Amino acid sequence: MERFICEVIGIDLGTTNTVVSYYDEVARDGACCPDFEGTNLTPSAVFFERSQEDEDGWSHVVGKVAKEIAILHPDRTATRFKRLMGRTTEAITLENRTFSPQELSAFMLERAVENAESALDRKIRNVVITVPAYFGDLQRKATLEAGKLAGLNVIDILDEPIAALVHCTTLSDLTDKVVLVIDLGGGTLDLIAARVTQDCIQELEIDGDIGLGGSDWDDALTKYVRETFLSGRSLRVDDEQQLCLDVEFAKKVLSNEKKNNARFVVRSMDGPVEVRITREEFDRCTRFLRDKTETVIRRVKDNLEKKGIEKIDKIILVGGATRMLQIRELIREIWPDLEDPDIIRRNVDEAVACGAASYARMKAAEIARKEIEAGKAGTGDPFIILEDEERWQKFKETIQHEEIEKVRSVVRPVQRISSRSYGLGVTVEDAGGSTQKIYNLIFRGEPLPAEKLGTRFGLSEDNMKRVALRVYENFSDEHYLEQDETLLIGECVLPISQQLPKGAVIEVSFRLQEDGTLYVYGTEPTGNTRIEMTLHSRALLGNEEVEF
Ligand code: AMP
Repeated sequence: MERFICEVIGIDLGTTNTVVSYYDEVARDGACCPDFEGTNLTPSAVFFERSQEDEDGWSHVVGKVAKEIAILHPDRTATRFKRLMGRTTEAITLENRTFSPQELSAFMLERAVENAESALDRKIRNVVITVPAYFGDLQRKATLEAGKLAGLNVIDILDEPIAALVHCTTLSDLTDKVVLVIDLGGGTLDLIAARVTQDCIQELEIDGDIGLGGSDWDDALTKYVRETFLSGRSLRVDDEQQLCLDVEFAKKVLSNEKKNNARFVVRSMDGPVEVRITREEFDRCTRFLRDKTETVIRRVKDNLEKKGIEKIDKIILVGGATRMLQIRELIREIWPDLEDPDIIRRNVDEAVACGAASYARMKAAEIARKEIEAGKAGTGDPFIILEDEERWQKFKETIQHEEIEKVRSVVRPVQRISSRSYGLGVTVEDAGGSTQKIYNLIFRGEPLPAEKLGTRFGLSEDNMKRVALRVYENFSDEHYLEQDETLLIGECVLPISQQLPKGAVIEVSFRLQEDGTLYVYGTEPTGNTRIEMTLHSRALLGNEEVEF
C-alpha cells in the first residue's frame, strides 16, 4: 500500500513581490525558496507576448524579467493587480483578450510553486496563501479562485500580519503579550493587534487600507520630480518607465539614515536632466501618505483603548515600506515609551511567507493526524507518497503524540475576528418620513464564527408579495448607517405566501464563518417559506448563489 504524508508550503502573494517558503524541520521555522532569477523575492509582474504555440495566441513571462521588460512595453505588462482582486474581472486587456486579477495571480502562484518544487525536489500541490487581514470576502474568494486556476489545493487563507506574527513567535516567546503587527507593503497597509496566549493567537483589532502602500510613495515622488525638474520636457515611454524605477531606488536610498539625498539622471527628449532630492523634500511631498498611515495606526490604538487595552507590548514591522525612516519615526512618535527591542524588524520581506509555511506545517500535521485516526491516511489529497516503511511508522508515532504539540508550541491556532460589519437594508419610519438605512447585525471585531439569529423586522406595507433581503458590508460600529449601494454584497427575495398587514414580522439570521462566508436566512411570518443565501464573490460568480 502506498503511504502518504501531507506537504504544504506558504505563499506570500504580494502586490509588488511574491515569496514562497517551506517549513524547515530542523530550524523549526519557515525557509524561503529562491527564485531561479536569484533572489527570494519574485516581482509580482506578468508580461505578455504574442505566441504561435499558445491557444489564445499569448504567452506570458513572470517576475524580474517581466518587471524589466515593462520599461519597453508597459501596455503589455500587468503589475499591482492584487489591488484589483475581487473588485473587477478585468485587470489587463490585450487586443481581444482580457486577463482577470485572479488569472494574473494564478501565474504568480504557479511560479512560486515552481520555485518550491525546485528547492524541495518534489511535486507540490498544497498551499497556504496569505492575504491582507483587511481583505473582505470578495477578495479572499478571488484569492482562492487564483489558487484553483493554478491547479493548487488551497488548504487555508491566512492573514498576512498573522503570518508575520507566527514567524516572530518562532523566533522569540511572545506568550501573554499584546502585539501590534504593522504591515506596509508595496500596495497595502495592514494592521492586526493580537494577544498571544499559551494556546492561541487571539485577534483583537483589524484595520488597514488596501489602497495605501510603498508604490504610492513612488507615485508621489515621481509627481514631485516631474513638477520640479521636468516641467515642459517630454519623455519617451521607456524613459518614463526608467524614471519610475529610479524614483523607487531614490526612495530606498533615502530610507538609509546615513543618506540625506539621492541623485539620478532622467533622459528627456530635450536632453538629460540631473535630479537631486533631499530627505526633507521627500518627506514634504509624501507627507499626506505618512498622515494617512498615522490615521489608521491611531484608529487601531484608540479602538484598543476603547476595549480597555492601554498597553502594547511589542510592535512588529513587516513589509518593505516599513523601512522608510518616516514610518519608523511615526511609530516612535505614537509610542514614545517603547524601547528598541520592543519594535521588532526582522526579515521584513520574508516574515509573512516564513510564517505562512510554519502555519501550513501545523495545518498539515493536523490533517495527517485526523486522517490517520480515521484509518484512511494515504487516501489521496492533500497527501504525498511516503513509501519507506520505517519513515512511515515513525511518522505515525510522532504525528499522534508529540508532532502536533511540538509544532503547536511555536505555531498557535488563530482565533479570528471579523474585519467588517454586515447589515441588512431596511426602511426606517419616523416623524420625518421614511428613510433607507443599513441595520448592522454582525459587527467588526466580533470573534468568528459570529452569528445573529432571529432578528425581527416588520413588513413596511400591507399585502407584500415579497421582501428583498439586501446585505451590506461596511466598517461602521453603529447599528444604523446611511444606505450606500457601493457596500451591497448580496440580495435575495423572500416570497410571502399570504396577504399580511403592514408590521407583520419576518425573521432574519446572519452567520459569518471563519473563512469569511456569510450565510443569510430569512423566514416569513407564516413560517411557510424560508430562504437561505450564501454570499460568494460576485467578481467570481457574476451573481450571488441564492437557494430557496
Ligand atoms: P513588499 O510588498 O513587502 O515586498 O514591499 C514592497 C515595497 O517596499 C515597495 O514599495 C518597495 O519600494 C518598498 N521597499 C523595499 N525596500 C525598501 C527600502 N529600503 N526603503 C523604502 N522602501 C522599500
